[in-house]
Amino acid sequence: MGIKYQPKNGWEIINKKDREAIFPFCERYVAFLDKAKTEREAIKASVELAEHNGFKKIEDMPVLKKGDKIYAVNKEKGVLLAVIGDNTVDGMNIVAAHVDSPSSDFKQNPLYEDLDMVLCKTHYYGGIKKYQWLAIPLALHGVVVKADGTKLEIVIGEQADEPVFCITDLLPHLAEEQMKKTMKDAVTGEGLNILIGSIPGEDEKEKFKGEILKILNTKYGISEEDFISAELEAVPVQPARDLGFDRSMIAAYGQDDRVCAYTALQAILDVKAVTKTVVCMLADKEEVGSMGDTGMQSRFFEDTIAHMISLENKNYNDLMLRKALKNSVCLSADVSAAMDPNYKDVSEPLNSPKLNYGVTLTKYTGSRGKSGSNDASAELVGRIRKIFNDNNIIWQIGELGKVDIGGGGTVAQFIANLNVETIDCGVPLLSMHSPFEVSAKLDVYMTYKAYKAFFVA
Ligand code: MN
Ligand code: MN
Repeated sequence: MGIKYQPKNGWEIINKKDREAIFPFCERYVAFLDKAKTEREAIKASVELAEHNGFKKIEDMPVLKKGDKIYAVNKEKGVLLAVIGDNTVDGMNIVAAHVDSPSSDFKQNPLYEDLDMVLCKTHYYGGIKKYQWLAIPLALHGVVVKADGTKLEIVIGEQADEPVFCITDLLPHLAEEQMKKTMKDAVTGEGLNILIGSIPGEDEKEKFKGEILKILNTKYGISEEDFISAELEAVPVQPARDLGFDRSMIAAYGQDDRVCAYTALQAILDVKAVTKTVVCMLADKEEVGSMGDTGMQSRFFEDTIAHMISLENKNYNDLMLRKALKNSVCLSADVSAAMDPNYKDVSEPLNSPKLNYGVTLTKYTGSRGKSGSNDASAELVGRIRKIFNDNNIIWQIGELGKVDIGGGGTVAQFIANLNVETIDCGVPLLSMHSPFEVSAKLDVYMTYKAYKAFFVA
């Protein structure tokens, strides 16, 4: 190591073995993305992979001993996977990511007709630039709990022979006034209504809406009141694709944060022998503040660790859980904002992540004076940096944009509040939170390698 710190483009320094591993790894990641367009689908796909790799439901384990591989699902929207080490009370190596992404969700009373067309009211989820959701094909994913309590899973719009949906946009010819507005005000939340039909039926009133309800009833056996107990998310139809003539990048919806979820998952599936217990936590609701019983602020995480310790030790007590957390280290696995050649002025080049410079370590997040941040200690950054350097991980340090330009947070603060040493670490993205987010394959692979090295460190 020279005296000067000189970050290099990963392709300039990568070894042959890693170079050859990148593309096949990312093919599997792309396949995962297409199966996981909602938090529920991401958990389902993750559990499938976990079971395939020998992980067992914690509920089926009478005791836990070293080497056991378990998982616990939180209400179909979260999962904790673990490989048991010598003694969980001695501390865990944790990687925590989130599986929810911004979407356009049906309101509970969504259906109405206007100008002989049928539309659905939506309430967007997470931080979106609303104009990005106009005039693109949308598929509908989710669940409907019917009046009799049965649950229906719906995916419509993903197959070429299925219909899609969309939110219309105003033609430029009549957009003179709209174009004068700020981007924030040009499209309103209540303007994000999804077009779903236009043929009249026999009903005397609301005959267009009636006809759509008839189709839904015939096809799915649902009635209008069933929407009240439904979670239906409109998501971009476009499947994940290779990007660029050199296929060096991936463009896809939902990479925040399924890119870190997948790499963390694959890392725990691939770890061989562990000394410390390793944990991969995939949570929901990060995009809205990690609230609720499926967010990272839920007790699910602590409860499951307590459950694990109680299966390792006959005489469980709460202090064991507290000790386990105190002795643990966590990588908060979330995406960072890569510098964008089209928007360079929001980034500070010395301290912003770049595409293809490897997995990003972020010491602190937050905004305006590190407010709301989990600020990892110099000691922790030092230990993680050493693990990465010792294991040939291509990595970089990065924060979110210039000082006072904006900011953001992750699940890091909630895990750190449990007295777990925590640092943010994940994949840099372009077009974050858009329907077509961009990652670099080298960074994706290096993130997987980083999590895996951290698990067994
Ligand atoms: Mn995220
Ligand atoms: Mn996000």
